[in-house]
Amino acid sequence: MAAETSFWKTKTLAQMNQREWESLCDGCGRCCLQKLLDDETEEVFYTRVICRYLDKDRRCGCYETRHIKVPECVWLKPEDVEQFHWLPATCSYRLIAEGKELPDWHPLVSGRRDSLVDAGIAVTCQQLVKDDEVPEDDWQEHIIQWVEQ
Ligand code: SF4
Ligand code: SF4
Repeated sequence: MAAETSFWKTKTLAQMNQREWESLCDGCGRCCLQKLLDDETEEVFYTRVICRYLDKDRRCGCYETRHIKVPECVWLKPEDVEQFHWLPATCSYRLIAEGKELPDWHPLVSGRRDSLVDAGIAVTCQQLVKDDEVPEDDWQEHIIQWVEQ
């Protein structure tokens, strides 16, 4: 076990402090993929179209100003936990919100930042297209399906 205290096992999302909350993110980059919503079923579809600001190391290129540059960029907050169902099934915040365990590949569990890359969880920019390179009307042609992990 990497962390001395497995806070994610004993605290709810609302009980976590800022450092704990931030460390819960595995850095997979999946939430930075563009999504399409079916208005009738409210089903969320992920695409291989990625936000233009995500770099090849899955870091946001405009983190401090992201809500100005990308108004639709979602800011996860504990009070919005009821809406976390749209997040990827592997997302730590969704897992904890649903009362599930963090997987072995999560950096907090493995103690290695790259363990989610080895597990094939992290998005790899080589397989993606930036959202300023594909017209929005064409995004539905890039819908993907996650392989369950
Ligand atoms: S999907 Fe969840 S765990 Fe992955 S980068 Fe986004 S917020 Fe972090
Ligand atoms: S602005 Fe940054 S955090 Fe928001 S979707 Fe784009 S890359 Fe991700």
